[in-house]
Amino acid sequence: MAGIYIHIPFCKRRCIYCDFYSTTQEEKKESYVHALCKELVSRNSYLDGETVETLYFGGGTPSQLDERAFLEIFNCVTRAYGMEGCKEITLEANPDDLNADYVKMLRRLPFNRISIGIQTFHDPMLQWLHRRHTAHQAIDAVHRCQDAGFGNISIDLIYGLPNETNAIWEKDLRQAIDLKAQHISAYHLIYEEGTPLWQLKDRHQVNEVDEEKSLSFFARLIDTLKEAGYEQYEISNFCLPGYHSRHNSSYWTEKKYLGCGPSAHSYNQTSRQWNLSSLDRYIEQIEKGKLPFEKEDLNLHTRYNERVITSIRTIRGLRLSSLKEEFGEELYLYCLQNASPHIERGLLEIKEDTLRLTRQGIFISDSIMSDLLWVDNL
Ligand code: SF4
Repeated sequence: MAGIYIHIPFCKRRCIYCDFYSTTQEEKKESYVHALCKELVSRNSYLDGETVETLYFGGGTPSQLDERAFLEIFNCVTRAYGMEGCKEITLEANPDDLNADYVKMLRRLPFNRISIGIQTFHDPMLQWLHRRHTAHQAIDAVHRCQDAGFGNISIDLIYGLPNETNAIWEKDLRQAIDLKAQHISAYHLIYEEGTPLWQLKDRHQVNEVDEEKSLSFFARLIDTLKEAGYEQYEISNFCLPGYHSRHNSSYWTEKKYLGCGPSAHSYNQTSRQWNLSSLDRYIEQIEKGKLPFEKEDLNLHTRYNERVITSIRTIRGLRLSSLKEEFGEELYLYCLQNASPHIERGLLEIKEDTLRLTRQGIFISDSIMSDLLWVDNL
């Protein structure tokens, strides 16, 4: 079983915090879709004929494409890979794109999951982040998708925003719950280098929330969603029973995936590769029959590191007997030795052959995972 990720690198305008690759050159959509289909066809042996179980349109803003463009892509995927085994087909969408006609059009296509980038329901903050929509539009967009028959909706939220209060965050969470979204992804705001937000911080024009507040937002997130019946199946991802993202879960279970489009990553269990982040270069090279990408071959140690990162961050945890079997005694003991101080402090636990973060451990998961990683030249 494998997945396909399709990057749609167009945004009407850029949000101040975002470091995903996208462009506002809308006039290039048609030539892009043409190049994308060429890449999809030319790489159809990458997944070794495995059944494609998930298809994910991410961005950028995939909801900037029209029906004709989607049909071209779906026809191409069907011809090159087959869609018979495809169980989850996700579209990332911006709320203001989801008007009545657009949602009706989406229902005519094979999408069965809509992931809506809402971020917050607080209008002044939406404006400040340079989002294109209001809270009201976001709420309407969710209702419109539900009324049209989409039964698997995910909402993206961001917390730890400058001057955010507990009351604002609580209100965001309550609103997401009231909307009965089947899935909620919630990420702390990150000041990524190179973004306008980073520049504001650099010029001391914005106040980052302090660590204590960040931790209290995270605790509120976990407790509020748990109380509402959501399962935290990954550090930042929550779902009602049975609604985990199959596509994202395949990243965490090391299934193969093919990523097409500029900046898209692919993984085939022996190497990782990523396309260059330039729309112009991408179109130009693909049209010449070349693919502009970089690649990293994985060895025992890099694969061990991937296993630690992908499994510890999920509710599944790290299966110790498989670790020993696949990576050998040395790495198995290395892992246990490095986990031991965290187990003593109650941050990790071993139950039924599985190493997992405890509730306390989730709050400092990054530093715990980094302690378990293999570092060359030890
Ligand atoms: S957050 Fe989404 S809509 Fe905003 S710039 Fe990034 S990709 Fe585009």
